[in-house]
Amino acid sequence: MPRSVGTSGTLGRPAPSRAWPLVLLLALILSAGCHRSPPLVERQFFAMGTLVTVSVYGTPQARAERAIARSERLFDRLDRRWHAWHPSALTRMDAALAAGRSIPIPPDLARLVREAGRLSRLSDGLFDPALGQLLALWGFEGDDLPARPPPAASIQQLLARHPSMSDLVLEEGRIRSRNPAVRLDFGAYAKGVAVDRAIDLLRSLGIRNAIVNAGGDLRAIGRHGARAWRIGIRNPDGPGVIAWLEVEGDQAVFTSGDYERYFSWHGKRYHHILDPRTGYPARGSRSVTVLAKHGGLADAAATALFVAGPDGWYPIARALGIHYVMLVDDHGRVHMNPRMARRIHFPAGRTPEVKLSPAL
Ligand code: AMP
Ligand code: MG
Repeated sequence: MPRSVGTSGTLGRPAPSRAWPLVLLLALILSAGCHRSPPLVERQFFAMGTLVTVSVYGTPQARAERAIARSERLFDRLDRRWHAWHPSALTRMDAALAAGRSIPIPPDLARLVREAGRLSRLSDGLFDPALGQLLALWGFEGDDLPARPPPAASIQQLLARHPSMSDLVLEEGRIRSRNPAVRLDFGAYAKGVAVDRAIDLLRSLGIRNAIVNAGGDLRAIGRHGARAWRIGIRNPDGPGVIAWLEVEGDQAVFTSGDYERYFSWHGKRYHHILDPRTGYPARGSRSVTVLAKHGGLADAAATALFVAGPDGWYPIARALGIHYVMLVDDHGRVHMNPRMARRIHFPAGRTPEVKLSPAL
């Protein structure tokens, strides 16, 4: 028969002091169980025309959620400042440049213009955010997709005016353009910079392990617990992934693909990445994935190498200082540098034909 502590004279005084540590220990274990945060906190929001997923590992849930909410507000703010066709600080600046006026430039836009100008030069002008008028002519500056290509003559007229980042003059806190055909559109670059800014914000809030993923373009820091972060690279030819890789420490993984925005006209597909040399959608690539230290660089480089295509990507990657490239060409062949090849895994039984370049 069980004896209850305290009613038995034989157990007497020492009994409660032996039981208390046990009760306390049990309470501690229980409370740890109730309040333990899930190791991975993941939230999504819509910004910059895409679904953004922020994943935080190993931070207490409430703190992770507060940090993610702040990164959402940051994306919203940047979207409203840098949007290429909704009224923004950028569209106000574009209107002044088109009118030939010199205007004060806010510091965030000055940084974008300076850095994008440098990357444009290094890419031999294949990445050129001064092409806003060409994008608008194609109908890619809009919430809906265009229905048909513009007349060839209109494309040629615009190309003959040679809009380029090198037309911009930045001095004493002001900007002007020597060429009124310049209109800035940072669609190939702003998302990368926003991802970098969000990572800086998370770090400043004490978060060490996270991914900021804007529609498949991401930067990862730290690890996913005991293992590295695993990143899938979308198959440009259909659902699922064409490959995956592991990222730890701090690295951006950006992909430019012809499947992101496109329309068909008379059985031909027209996508949103334009070749500044021809004025038409770039040919030869289906997708290009680039790894780099920063999202801004990776974003600009993925677009530039997509335009350069399977025969031209290598020297441009060198000039941009990129060390990891994977390009899928329009025959489904994969072009990579050896260092990238060592990082890339293909799903079992689905290894494509691979063409290795010299080292980068
Ligand atoms: P991404 O997905 O980063 O390659 O960016 C594609 C977007 O960049 C397009 O929707 C356009 O807004 C813009 N864009 C297209 N072609 C170019 C180009 N050659 N240089 C710079 N921006 C471009
Ligand atoms: Mg890009």
